[in-house]
Amino acid sequence: MDWETVQLTDKRRRRSVTRVTDALIGFQHGRCLICAQPITPGDSTAVDHVFPYSLMQRFGNVSGWDGPDLDVIWNLAPAHQACNSAKSDRLPTPEELHRLAQRNEAIMHSPHPLRKTLQLSLRSMRHSSNPPEHWPHFLRQVQTACD
Ligand SMILES: [Zn+2]
Repeated sequence: MDWETVQLTDKRRRRSVTRVTDALIGFQHGRCLICAQPITPGDSTAVDHVFPYSLMQRFGNVSGWDGPDLDVIWNLAPAHQACNSAKSDRLPTPEELHRLAQRNEAIMHSPHPLRKTLQLSLRSMRHSSNPPEHWPHFLRQVQTACD
C-alpha cells in the first residue's frame, strides 16, 4: 500500500487511516511491533507489512501466492520508521509473529470495529480443510505458504 500517497491525496481517507493506525498502536500497547520499544509522539512511524508485501510478487503474481491478502489489517503493524526501513523485505521473526498474534487476538476480544475485519480475514484462508481458529494458527499457515 502506498501509505504516503493515500495520506497526501485524500484528506478524508487520511483521517480514517490515522484513526486505524492509532487504534493499532493502542492494541500494541503503544509499542513498535518490530523492536517492541515504545512509540513516542515525536517518533517517525511507518506501517509495516509483517509478512512483506513482496511475497505476493515473488510468487509470480497474486494468484501464484497461496496465502491470504497481505495488504490488510491483520498483517499491518505500526512501527518506528527506522525499524521498518531496516527490516525491508525480510520475513518476520518468531517474536514479531508472537506480538502480531497477541495484537490480533486482543482486537478480536475487544468491541473495536476492527474485530470484524479480522474475523473476515480468519475466514478467508483458502485451504479450509483446516480453517484457522486463532491467530497463532493462522500465522503458522501463512508461514507454510512462504516455503
Ligand atoms: Zn522499533
